[in-house]
Amino acid sequence: MPPILITVFLFVLGLVFGSFFNVLIYRLPRELSIVKPGSFCPSCRHPIAWYDNIPLLSWLILRGRCRHCGAAISLRYPLVELMTGIIFAGVPPLVKAVGLANVPAAGVSPLHIAFAIIFISILALVLIIDLEHQIIPDELSVALFVLGWMAVFALRPPISPGWVSSLIGMFVLSLFFLAFALLLGGFGLGDVKLAVGLGAFFGWQLLVVAAFLSFAVGGVFAISFALYLMSQRKLKARIAIPFGPYLAIGAALTLFIGDRLLVWYLSFFRPV
Ligand SMILES: [Zn+2]
Repeated sequence: MPPILITVFLFVLGLVFGSFFNVLIYRLPRELSIVKPGSFCPSCRHPIAWYDNIPLLSWLILRGRCRHCGAAISLRYPLVELMTGIIFAGVPPLVKAVGLANVPAAGVSPLHIAFAIIFISILALVLIIDLEHQIIPDELSVALFVLGWMAVFALRPPISPGWVSSLIGMFVLSLFFLAFALLLGGFGLGDVKLAVGLGAFFGWQLLVVAAFLSFAVGGVFAISFALYLMSQRKLKARIAIPFGPYLAIGAALTLFIGDRLLVWYLSFFRPV
């Protein structure tokens, strides 16, 4: 199959999955079943027919309004579909070009690409749901955990240096978060469980890289946000910022360049 057709196919597949991700984003944090009932309008609860549920197109044709009650349908629905389409179509060429952490571009297999798509998709769901609800659904952490252990045994070459590293990785960041959550607050149990899954996937070395990147990204956001509030004279406002989105961004960066960052950082400590 010509590459352009594969890209189109993956994009359409991503749109379909994006439609399903919209269901997850709405239902997981509300603890609703993800299989029953079928899609319904959040305003009038009217079931949505298949022809009104076509990714991207239906939202455009209906001009963002429910066919039955006319309530506005959030722009988030087509955006999540588009985002997922871009992930499915964009991750494979990216992986082929730069490789994955501990996996040189020349060693990339289709299985690596599939794992990368699923990993990035789960992180995207974590980011969106945590931003909106300050919750990281257990289902996503469990999915990451299972994916992580599958990766340890299925990927050749592997991303995690080995099962011992993954086993240690399950505890390194999660125990740090747990201690923080119990003693000082600041992190939630959702962060703890997410860190277990990420540790299994990456192994402890890359997990440390992901954690540092998350704190760096979080710090940049927090400082810019504080400066913005100061400029608006609103610094009094106390705003809770969830950590899950930063962790998701740090983990996504680590997936692609974590090993290079680690080598670069360790080079500062090379004996002269
Ligand atoms: Zn409606």
